[in-house]
Amino acid sequence: MTLYPHLLAPLNLGHVTLPNRVLMGSMHTNLEETGDWNRVAEFYATRARGGVALMVTGGMAPNREGGVFPGAAGLFTVQDIANHRLVTDRVHDAGGRIAMQILHAGRYAYGKDCVAPSAIKSPISPFPPAELDEAGIEKQIADFATAAARAREAGYDGVEVMGSEGYLLNEFLSLHTNRRTDRWGGDYENRMRLPVEVVKRVRAAVGPDFILIYRISLIDLVPHGQSFDEVVRLARAIEAAGASILNTGIGWHEARVPTIATSVPRAAFAWVTQKLMGQVGIPLITSNRINTPEVAEEVLARGCADMVSMARPFLADPDFVRKAAEGRAAEIAPCIACNQACLDHTFSGRISTCLVNPRAGHETRLVITPAPLQKSVAVVGAGPAGLAAALTAAERGHRVTLFDRAAEIGGQLNLAKRVPGKEEFHGLIAWFSTMVATSGITLRLNTEATVDTLSGFDKVIVATGVTPRDPGIPVEPGARILRYDEVLRGAPVGARVAIVGAGGIGFDVATYLAEAESPTVDPALWRREWGVTDPAAAPGGLAPEGPQPLPPARQITLLQRKAEKPGRSLGKTTGWIHRATLQMKGVAMIGGVNYAAITPAGLLVTHGPAQERPEVIPADTVVLCAGQESARGLADALAAAGIPAQVIGGADVAAELDAKRAIDQGTRVAAML
Ligand code: NAP
Ligand code: SF4
Repeated sequence: MTLYPHLLAPLNLGHVTLPNRVLMGSMHTNLEETGDWNRVAEFYATRARGGVALMVTGGMAPNREGGVFPGAAGLFTVQDIANHRLVTDRVHDAGGRIAMQILHAGRYAYGKDCVAPSAIKSPISPFPPAELDEAGIEKQIADFATAAARAREAGYDGVEVMGSEGYLLNEFLSLHTNRRTDRWGGDYENRMRLPVEVVKRVRAAVGPDFILIYRISLIDLVPHGQSFDEVVRLARAIEAAGASILNTGIGWHEARVPTIATSVPRAAFAWVTQKLMGQVGIPLITSNRINTPEVAEEVLARGCADMVSMARPFLADPDFVRKAAEGRAAEIAPCIACNQACLDHTFSGRISTCLVNPRAGHETRLVITPAPLQKSVAVVGAGPAGLAAALTAAERGHRVTLFDRAAEIGGQLNLAKRVPGKEEFHGLIAWFSTMVATSGITLRLNTEATVDTLSGFDKVIVATGVTPRDPGIPVEPGARILRYDEVLRGAPVGARVAIVGAGGIGFDVATYLAEAESPTVDPALWRREWGVTDPAAAPGGLAPEGPQPLPPARQITLLQRKAEKPGRSLGKTTGWIHRATLQMKGVAMIGGVNYAAITPAGLLVTHGPAQERPEVIPADTVVLCAGQESARGLADALAAAGIPAQVIGGADVAAELDAKRAIDQGTRVAAML
């Protein structure tokens, strides 16, 4: 008897039956652009072996003008077809199925040749699009159909036509971007002509026995978005045009509402897909922030959809479905929706990988093999670096002892989990605990490892982490000062706060102090905070009254010495969410300051290189978030005693340390032991 009867039920699509209800959603990994198609094939085959029913590739452009960026992968030539054939063959050999996504980026195409229904520039691209004429529109339709026919020739099991997220087909649907007065614009019948025509022609090109998924934007989250009546009308027309499945798209890329970040509640948009259930005869897929089998099962059991799409969770753990089916859900490495190693990489031209699983995207290069010689390995520090090193070493067959002076594993992750919007860190720590318990590692908590303790081991890895930096600001008697770690562990904080340092931790602490309760665990509160409503009540699902955040719990000022805008170092795809969250809470952000003194009245600062305009930032508590320094006491003592050790994580380099670098380094060092 499985715990996930809905999730693991087969789905009959007529010519084919999928073994379960899990789709691996499309992700652009930048792997195709390396030209190493063996690597692409292994990426997908690894996930096929893990039991997912159907995978969708990253978006493939139907033509050059539709590529997300110049040089984006597509299916343009005979050689392209041969490359894609490598992927589909390997997936089929692994027992999986794969569909190719056809993505025409429209005005989001990052290049001067971009095209759109109307010549209206997107706010997230510097390139104004050219308005398509009648012949241009016909060319786009024909190119979609040709790409689909080539996908079939390349061995794919289906295609997904990308019709959401504000890309070309979605642009035709909304008055936000379509101001045409010909038969492709104006009333909704005209605006939906292009997506419907594309689906008809794709179906004609591929024949009946081929999966055709259409990704439909159910809630645009932009001004002048579609009404829900329009969405239902489109869904029915797309079904009639020949689609086999409708997949859910949530929000345009330019929407000012987070849709997949970690602060978005789990399954936050399943209710939108549920609104479409019963309106069409073909299966519906729901998506966004579904990351455990429990959540996926619950969404399906509630009747929100026929199938769930998860994308990033398959970077974190390719074996998600197999582990769920075998009753080993606690062993599924959780996607914490941080975007740090996947989307932030994608959008900066790097290979997408995963903070939790550095092997993702590097399957052919970072290979964990059994150790030729079993060794006794001591790892000191059970933070992310030490945990990754210990688990990898144990996986390779070494005898591992993991020390930490604290009473619990997790290191700095135990601080992160207390920040509203970062609740997923609880799951990551729980996963590490499970894996330590099942891996044969000897765990010695509440234990200070010393040179004597470590002298008998074959290998020693030091992952002792960091200590908060004391910025050395003069302090007057009676001033109240706390370090960030003290605050996040629950030290009482006054009503007016000045925060020294506006890095990732300064932002986290400001969020912790501003939010009386976490909207992430209260979906209704979260929707109010971001101004999201039922698309049947307001077109596009944007509440007419706009965001309605709760009042801030405190009056907060966040400061830094650099003159630049605070928050520039935050993640590429999530920084704007952190800034917007604090702005909604009225947090003042000031750059270019010099710290003169901490007084009982607050923080005395001056401004600019000339140290002008002295002022006291009124504060009952000043919180220090001024970065960190390596905790190298043990590493130095080992060196002095002549005991060789490998130093990793924050103990190695404190600057710009994050869990991504820590886990990656821990894994790689242990892979070579
Ligand atoms: P950080 O990002 O390096 O920020 C340190 C802050 O302290 C900066 O604002 C810096 O700004 C200030 N500072 C540095 N030296 C100072 C000094 N001597 N006196 C006064 N101010 C000083 O470090 P962090 O905030 O401690 O974060 C540590 C790491 O964790 C970072 O890599 C960060 O990206 C990561 N992290 C990320 C997130 C996330 O949301 N993705 C969240 C938490 C942590 P000025 O030098 O301009 O004053
Ligand atoms: Fe998930 Fe973060 Fe890994 Fe991306 S990097 S897959 S968001 S855990």
